[in-house]
Amino acid sequence: MTAVTTSTRFHPLRVTRIDRETPDAIAVTLQPPPQAEALFRFTPGQYLTFRRVVDGEEQRRSYSICAGLDEGALRVGIKRVPGGSFSAWAVDRLQPGDVLDAMPPEGRFGLMPDPAAPPRTILGIACGSGITPILSIATSVLAREPHSRVVLLYGNRSAADIMFRTALEELKDRHLHRFAVVHVLSREKHELETLHGRFDAARIQALLPGLVPPGSIAEAFLCGPEGLAESATAALTALGVPHEHIHVERFTPAGGTLAPRRAQPPAPDAQPAATATITLDGVTRSVPMAAGETVLEAGLRAGLDVPWSCRGGMCCTCRAKVTEGAVAMDTNYSLQPWELEAGFVLTCQSRPVGTQVSVDYDAT
Ligand SMILES: Cc1cc2nc3c(=O)[nH]c(=O)nc-3n(C[C@H](O)[C@H](O)[C@H](O)COP(=O)(O)OP(=O)(O)OC[C@H]3O[C@@H](n4cnc5c(N)ncnc54)[C@H](O)[C@@H]3O)c2cc1C
Repeated sequence: MTAVTTSTRFHPLRVTRIDRETPDAIAVTLQPPPQAEALFRFTPGQYLTFRRVVDGEEQRRSYSICAGLDEGALRVGIKRVPGGSFSAWAVDRLQPGDVLDAMPPEGRFGLMPDPAAPPRTILGIACGSGITPILSIATSVLAREPHSRVVLLYGNRSAADIMFRTALEELKDRHLHRFAVVHVLSREKHELETLHGRFDAARIQALLPGLVPPGSIAEAFLCGPEGLAESATAALTALGVPHEHIHVERFTPAGGTLAPRRAQPPAPDAQPAATATITLDGVTRSVPMAAGETVLEAGLRAGLDVPWSCRGGMCCTCRAKVTEGAVAMDTNYSLQPWELEAGFVLTCQSRPVGTQVSVDYDAT
């Protein structure tokens, strides 16, 4: 059970507007308190982590910012996951005037537009709610890089499921020669046969060369549920797009199902299997670790305000640097190769190798 924390990392954001994007998805516009406004400046592609207490248990969920940099708004898109706790509550219940506790923007998926950079072509491949960070990237690049292009491949079940349809159409009207969006619908007939069916590697590989010569793709951003990362990466790799230019954000792990988010508490008489020395907000503490526990679980059990969200290796909220000893990570969907080389780990996935490990959450 995740105890309800008194974390100081969260700020109360007021919901100023709810737009219904589809019967199952909303866009939520949020206003940070004046003293926290600067903390909520974001890089397109980043996400916010919200918390909510349900039956005495704290839930944390991440939602990507969909607003462009110059819209003067902080907005996220939330799509209902069948049986989902937070998403169903938000889509059905959230109203203007409500307050949501959120951590400042995080994540390294995305890019900051550079008006001085030579013109470039940015490719987005999204499925379902995966459009949220891609929309922010597209809107921001088109606004701030006057000669760059954005090409977007967007997969959904039917036209009624397309999130941000109006925003995408407006973007097309405003940047007619620099923005192209192609919708692929899996369960709805389209007059063009190639735009109907599974949004898989073969389809992406078939569609892309007609939209953008693969050699001219400066950066590709892929976001969507299970399977998209693999199929789109395979298609882009087959077309010769270098791996370092393919960026992936996952909302769910490769298998599609999230591991239980609760830590198993150790037996009361269990001997510590290891010690974790944790540096957080300038303070260093040593905490005992039970066998099989992750560094994050040990820190939470010791009452530390360690940052966390998805607990599935997809977000990087719980990132820290190993400064002594070593850990083994179960999965990592979000850390970049350079971060791994520099010793950064996802503490929700990290178990010590040996009896002593030191991690620093403050390291950047
Ligand atoms: C970095 C990051 C950014 C994200 N951005 C967005 C976003 O912009 N918009 C958005 O709608 N969601 C986004 N998500 C997903 C979001 O954080 C939640 O995981 C999702 O809304 C489900 O939460 P829930 O509480 O409703 O479901 P839960 O109660 O946590 O889960 C219910 C069931 O659904 C499964 N499940 C959980 N998430 C998904 C999913 N995304 N797809 C399919 N099955 C799932 C679980 O394994 C479980 O079986 C993002 C996730 C990450 C890690």
